[in-house]
Amino acid sequence: MAPTELLIGSRWQASTGPGRTREVMSPFDGSPVGTVALAGPEDVDVALAAAERGAAVWRRTPAHERMTILLRAAELADERAGRIARTISAESGKTITEATGEASRSGDLIRLAAFEGTQLYGETLPLDANRGTGFDKVGFTLRQPCGVVVAITPFNYPALLVLHKLAPALAAGNAVVLKPATSTPLTALELASCFVDAGLPEGVLSVLVGSGGVLGDLLVTDPRVRKISFTGSTATGEHIARVAGVKKLSLELGASCPVVVLPDADLELAASAVALGGYVNAGQVCISVQRVITHPSITADFLDALVPKVKAIRTGDPSSPETTMGTLITTAEAERVERAIARAGTDGARILTGGERDGAVVSPAVVADVHPDSAFSQQELFGPAVAVSSAADWESAIAQANGTAYGLGAGVFTSDVAGAIRAVREIDAGTVHINWTPLWRADLMPYGGLKGSGYGKEGPRAAVGEMTEVKTIVLHGRPW
Ligand code: NAP
Repeated sequence: MAPTELLIGSRWQASTGPGRTREVMSPFDGSPVGTVALAGPEDVDVALAAAERGAAVWRRTPAHERMTILLRAAELADERAGRIARTISAESGKTITEATGEASRSGDLIRLAAFEGTQLYGETLPLDANRGTGFDKVGFTLRQPCGVVVAITPFNYPALLVLHKLAPALAAGNAVVLKPATSTPLTALELASCFVDAGLPEGVLSVLVGSGGVLGDLLVTDPRVRKISFTGSTATGEHIARVAGVKKLSLELGASCPVVVLPDADLELAASAVALGGYVNAGQVCISVQRVITHPSITADFLDALVPKVKAIRTGDPSSPETTMGTLITTAEAERVERAIARAGTDGARILTGGERDGAVVSPAVVADVHPDSAFSQQELFGPAVAVSSAADWESAIAQANGTAYGLGAGVFTSDVAGAIRAVREIDAGTVHINWTPLWRADLMPYGGLKGSGYGKEGPRAAVGEMTEVKTIVLHGRPW
């Protein structure tokens, strides 16, 4: 791959529009990380035309051959994991430790998807159970790829969130046009290279780097596209849902994830888990802990346990193994988060630690006595701060946990099985963790939100389901 080339139809080629490139900068120190070719509106048309041709070839490629190519891509992702990790850290400001963890999951995720792409089972239909129908007919379902899939991804997990779409879409026999986040295109291009170098046929994969505002509508409204898989903010997801037309949609959107700490909880465990789950990737995780709801009898003890752990988080150069929390994606984002924390303070909450900004770094914050209806609770923060509020009983704790527009993940700390079961039943979130925070994911899990957090599930098995369509077949014989 040359920096001035685009990946269109599984081949590196020059942009069809006037040559445009963009330098990707480190959010930590502004140093150049790499250069990418920018796609223009003309390239959308070329990529979708290539994808239509590629989809026709790929859907006729037997599943075992698709799997072989994906397994080769997985090996390449493993071999290149060190380089991919350095790219993730450099372009996103995530610590090298976190980036290494992310990159090292790539190969296994591709392997899981490769297998699921060979499992496109259908079912036989007991048509004779329908009055008037007999044994002269046979009915069954076939699962087939959607065709052309548009995948749009955010910056915060530039490897995993790309792979959670690319790998199942390709495994199931679709052609994909990927539009990665403008701030983290290099990781997406490195991962795409793994698939291309593994032997993906012409047409099957394109990566269009460019502004979502410019390319987004062209991609999602195009009638050649059958499936859109989007991960990003609720605002962008709502826009896509409005303009996309009759297409299959998966929307993985924003969140304000709660953790409930009950009086019988192991407070040390809860504080340690929150000190991790609120601050991984500087809080820029859709399943980050944003709100902690404690029983008043234990709030002070919980905060006493939490605050020193949060103060111990070390910010600094993301490329240093000593750094435990990196930057936000841009200085502008850091300024937004700094303002939100300061506003929580002026609105009556207590900032117990953190909230100061240095460039794109915001020091990790704990904010107590946050009103559940305040903007600090209700709006997604996407930054390194946790809001703590109290609920006097189980009813109000659950009401608070459910009391935002979102429903992605939730955690409950308790030693009482009955309380745990009640939480599992009553909290409206796509994933509920007992004795851990929502910030935990095994790549094979069905994963996706309720309410304003979106619809559709990822995780290779679920995603292959979402990226295929069911066709019903009836063979009509003659009564005998
Ligand atoms: P974003 O601003 O919505 O951007 C996400 C992607 O959408 C980017 O590639 C962006 O391109 C593109 N985009 C922007 N405008 C578009 C349009 N009009 N049409 C089509 N695409 C468009 O989100 P973000 O700030 O990158 O990511 C943070 C958000 O993602 C948070 O809300 C977070 O909760 C959510 N998220 C959710 C999950 C989940 O699984 N539920 C996982 C991770 C993140 P540009 O980069 O060019 O703007």
